[in-house]
Amino acid sequence: MSVLFRQVRLLDRAAAEGLSPPCDVHVEGPRIAAVGTELAAKGARLVEGHGKLLLPGLINAHFHSPVNHMKGRLDSLPLELFMLYESPALETLRPGPREAYIRTLLACAEMLRGGVTSVQDDAFFLPDPTPDIIDAVMQAYADSGMRVNLALDEPELAELDKLPFLRELMPAAARAGLETARDTGFLMEAYQHLISRWHGTQGGRLRAAVSCSAPQRVSPRYMRALDDISRALDVPYFAHMLETKLQRVLGEERLGGRSLIRYAADEGLLSARLNIIHAIWVDGADLDLVASAGSTIAHNPISNLRLGSGVMPFRAIRARGIPICLGTDEAIADDAVNMWAVAKMAGLIHNITTPDPNEWPKAWEVLDCLFTGGARAMGLADDLGAVEPGRLADLTLVDLETLPFTPLNDTARQLVYCEDGRSVVATMVAGDFVFEAGRCTRIDEAALIAEARELFARRRPALELAASEAGRLRPWYEAMVGRAAARDVGMNRWVSA
Ligand SMILES: [Zn+2]
Repeated sequence: MSVLFRQVRLLDRAAAEGLSPPCDVHVEGPRIAAVGTELAAKGARLVEGHGKLLLPGLINAHFHSPVNHMKGRLDSLPLELFMLYESPALETLRPGPREAYIRTLLACAEMLRGGVTSVQDDAFFLPDPTPDIIDAVMQAYADSGMRVNLALDEPELAELDKLPFLRELMPAAARAGLETARDTGFLMEAYQHLISRWHGTQGGRLRAAVSCSAPQRVSPRYMRALDDISRALDVPYFAHMLETKLQRVLGEERLGGRSLIRYAADEGLLSARLNIIHAIWVDGADLDLVASAGSTIAHNPISNLRLGSGVMPFRAIRARGIPICLGTDEAIADDAVNMWAVAKMAGLIHNITTPDPNEWPKAWEVLDCLFTGGARAMGLADDLGAVEPGRLADLTLVDLETLPFTPLNDTARQLVYCEDGRSVVATMVAGDFVFEAGRCTRIDEAALIAEARELFARRRPALELAASEAGRLRPWYEAMVGRAAARDVGMNRWVSA
């Protein structure tokens, strides 16, 4: 398929209002063939671009699809309490393939409508990553038209070994079921299935990634086995690190005083393929390690607020040249799955960390994180993140003749501070329109919504049962979080202590 966008504007930092003069963009097959003026493309579909801005597709660099159906289900809680409700490994919550398919598609529709072309799905498959559920999730991405890097976010260690203090806080009788580790042989088989069945399919639009969830949730051996896959396939490796103060305290308690990033570096995990997710309770020494390894940090500012995790030290990270990408995190912790909202929050939250406005993020920096950082995180730095010949035609067409851009003062600032997704008129992935004229072209949204409402209404009793199980454990988890919160760790990432 060949498409010619005529007379569109592109982002141009150096130009007046941050916009290029009108130009043509020719898409041939999955890639951008040419950018210029008065391009001719015989047989191409013409898209009139007058008054419109053609952006690189937005990249949601950190996401967990398995809780797509749980938006708005919980009050805000600290991560360790939140996870009790979000991801209990209960048999009653085991999804059928249709459920996994439908819940994945829900977020695809939401993202495509908002101009998101790529997602990195760090999917946990509870209670187990079975081939039929992996297939259902990947089939949803295949059908939706989105680009995805999918990893299996599967902790290995027993619950009591992943967290500090719990073993001493809980009476023996209450610890039943929390002492069992997972079988990594089974997990590696699941990866083999994901890779052999899906990696590189749909013209490379669907890819595998790997995930250890977090270094403290797995053994060093399993952590390294995943790195071997990441290196062999040259695909990203996802690891949550220092998201909460408790995780900083865990290093003092369990890792001989090393931070989780120091520990991961000692185990050989830090690399240019690594996506370090959150990186809130990091210090300068941690960031020096990350910078020298060339790893990317995934910033999820709305999730970080929803869970009260703290504020990531944006300027200290940028000052070291560490790439930052942006993500929504999961639909239970950023319930809107809207990358425009994430960009705006990234542009605002850091302003309350220092009175010096020179340290505050500029709109251009936020867009750099969204596009360039996202492309880098995905391992596609040369293929995504810019509207240039040779790059993949993952594009978002934005109408500038809308309220968020009227009057037009500065395109970059209005993208970050004004736009919320309503001005997106078309979304293209690999040269195919996947959203245009107000509808997702490959998803029957009315049927999807009707089926999802009915399906998840039926699942409500199972979710309620899981919540009551979480309530049983909650007092000990609250005590654990409280003990960590009271510890002086030599830094503060909350606005007040
Ligand atoms: Zn996450």
